[in-house]
Amino acid sequence: MTAVKEMSNWDVEKIRADFPVLSQTVNGKPLVYLDNAASSQVPQVVIDRGAKYLREEHSNIHRGVHYLSQHATTAYEAAREKVKRFINAKEAKECIFVRGTTEGINLVAYSYGRKFVGEGDEILISAMEHHANIIPWQVLAEEKGARIKVIPINERGELILEEYENLLNERTKIVAVAHVSNALGTVNPVKEMIATAHKFGVPVLIDAAQSVPHFPVDVQDLDADFLVFSGHKMYAPTGSGVLYGKKEWLDKMPPYQTGGGMIRTVTFEKTTYAGLPEKFEAGTPAIAAGIGLGAAIDYLNSIDFEAAARYEHELLEYATEKLSAIEGVKLIGTAREKASVLSFTIENVHPHDIGTILDQSGIAVRAGHHCAQPVMQFFDVPATARASFAFYNTREEVDKLAEAVHKVIEVFA
Ligand code: PLP
Repeated sequence: MTAVKEMSNWDVEKIRADFPVLSQTVNGKPLVYLDNAASSQVPQVVIDRGAKYLREEHSNIHRGVHYLSQHATTAYEAAREKVKRFINAKEAKECIFVRGTTEGINLVAYSYGRKFVGEGDEILISAMEHHANIIPWQVLAEEKGARIKVIPINERGELILEEYENLLNERTKIVAVAHVSNALGTVNPVKEMIATAHKFGVPVLIDAAQSVPHFPVDVQDLDADFLVFSGHKMYAPTGSGVLYGKKEWLDKMPPYQTGGGMIRTVTFEKTTYAGLPEKFEAGTPAIAAGIGLGAAIDYLNSIDFEAAARYEHELLEYATEKLSAIEGVKLIGTAREKASVLSFTIENVHPHDIGTILDQSGIAVRAGHHCAQPVMQFFDVPATARASFAFYNTREEVDKLAEAVHKVIEVFA
């Protein structure tokens, strides 16, 4: 890793002023928020947009002819258009609004899985998946008599790609893999992996929960069949999220949930379903959250997202350098390509104690298994402490993190 001398030209103070939560103190210290991989903070413009909806536009969408309903529908569908442009989907109707990544993956496992996966088939995931990209496939496999196959990782926390090729065969029905690991920070070469899977005619789902918030993602360039992400990790409210799916697949898939809003006609004998995206959006959705996601995308478009990604990467390199220089600290996840996440342990200190002591200094990190227990098992640790960065974090905050880590070591010495 090369030494980081100068940060790129990024006006971080100007950006920080957009996020009201960052100016508060915690335990008498300025908040240092380094838990962005769990949930990022929300800029004022997104808060204002949500408030405007609730104050002036709140109404149920799609089925109303009155002014407010039409207004809310227009705002909600405009958010879908923004998502489409942001990830470069061919059509807005390929962008299904869901509650978040978890619901998006469950939707595909339930709908695609129940139609296209049968006895003896194989589902290929990786050893670094979040539980949200393991359990829905396990449940499906149990139900269908299918098998889960796992792409292994090496000691750096990188996928072993030769093994991946060997695991693909005519029984493979889907590959589901993280773009960026939330526990290790590894960026996986998903474009190449998708191309390889397609040689076998196998569709690929990308768990983009940790990539879409951190660098531009283009679903057509990747040629992803499915791609899922959560609004609350990308400066939008909880309850918003997206399942992107190629129309060719979504058209062939049965509904996931049924009820209002997803039908064409209903009689007691038979129901016919609406087209995309309504077929997959039964019931009243999280309207304010969806509109908020659109506002978060507007915000990201307004700040030079590519420059933000470069800045964030430099911050990660700086933090890596600082923490790895501390005796007793071990980084978990040292892949050559990483984004945003720095997982670490301290010799003889439980990660929960690290988290608690850092909190006393106003520093928010996450301590635990990060919903990736197989990763913890691989590295033979019960848990890690995880600092995860956003473009509003600063070099000074990294210095504070390093100081606080020194303090933890002193306390436990
Ligand atoms: N996948 C990854 C890689 C994640 O980091 C997370 C959340 O941490 C999820 C899936 C689940 O996201 P959500 O809880 O928003 O559904």
